[in-house]
Amino acid sequence: MTPRLGIGLDIGGTKVLGAIVDDTGAVVEEHRVPSPTGTWAGLLAAIVDTIGELRSRRADVACVGIGAAGMVDLDGTIHYAPNVPAFRSTTVRADVDAAVGLPTVVDNDANVAAYAEARFGAARGMKDALVITLGTGIGGGVIVNGRVLRGAHGFAAEVGHFQIDPNGPMCACGERGHWEAMASGTALGVMAQAAARRGQLAAVLAAAGGDPDAIRGPHVSAAGHAGDAEALALIDQYAFNVAIGLVGLANIFDPGVIAIAGGLVNDGELFLGPIRTHFLGHVEGSVHRPTPEIVPATLGERAGVIGAAILALDLTPVGASAAVPRGRP
Ligand SMILES: [Zn+2]
Repeated sequence: MTPRLGIGLDIGGTKVLGAIVDDTGAVVEEHRVPSPTGTWAGLLAAIVDTIGELRSRRADVACVGIGAAGMVDLDGTIHYAPNVPAFRSTTVRADVDAAVGLPTVVDNDANVAAYAEARFGAARGMKDALVITLGTGIGGGVIVNGRVLRGAHGFAAEVGHFQIDPNGPMCACGERGHWEAMASGTALGVMAQAAARRGQLAAVLAAAGGDPDAIRGPHVSAAGHAGDAEALALIDQYAFNVAIGLVGLANIFDPGVIAIAGGLVNDGELFLGPIRTHFLGHVEGSVHRPTPEIVPATLGERAGVIGAAILALDLTPVGASAAVPRGRP
């Protein structure tokens, strides 16, 4: 049987990545443009152009799936998107559907990435899994019985805003001590900057040209790979912050596997090793139970487009054209 084709779009603050994906999860065409800043009309035009470019290469696509950085409700309306202001209060699904005439579904970008990892990547074969992306913020998808957990309104699994410490650092959302304020890739850089200002992390500070404000996560990673003791101590502290969030989620959801995505996956065991150690030290009853493996995600930056396209294919009946799947299963 000829594979069915769907278009997946991953829309974030910096880029619109589009791809044609077949129903085995293979990317067959790809197109990328920078995200226009400003209004929804401008962003919608970029989305429509991306879909048009992809359809010019393969006309036989069945549907469009969109993974969007924001709080997406069950009808594909985005209510809040701190990193993509043009998305705020926009009827994304209905507008794209009307503009391109293909059945369209919209979900949160971390949810679609998690779905891709559960179907074709690091969590493949697991009906219950967590997929956590440590990037600018922390994105998360919770797979329960093979499906993405969406909640009553579509806003479930905003794991980055899981409060770890009410007296902790301020989160971008305005609350204190949220997990992403303590354990995102950005937080690693902030922790290192603070340590350098206290006179620590000399090797990391030198690598950043002597300016504490210039320190980013990769400076810490590089010093850690080189065996610098202060960098390794900071990495251990950061890994603890990552682990305590994972412990809370694992105690609630009992996943079969936890896949970690984001730039630090490229550092291999430098981060994953101490994250596992702290996780096993704190998860409930760790010596009396099977515990989830903590593994690197495998689909990289294409997880979003693959998951979005597959979700759309799953929700679009064979032979459907402009008939739109309303709401969510
Ligand atoms: Zn927050």
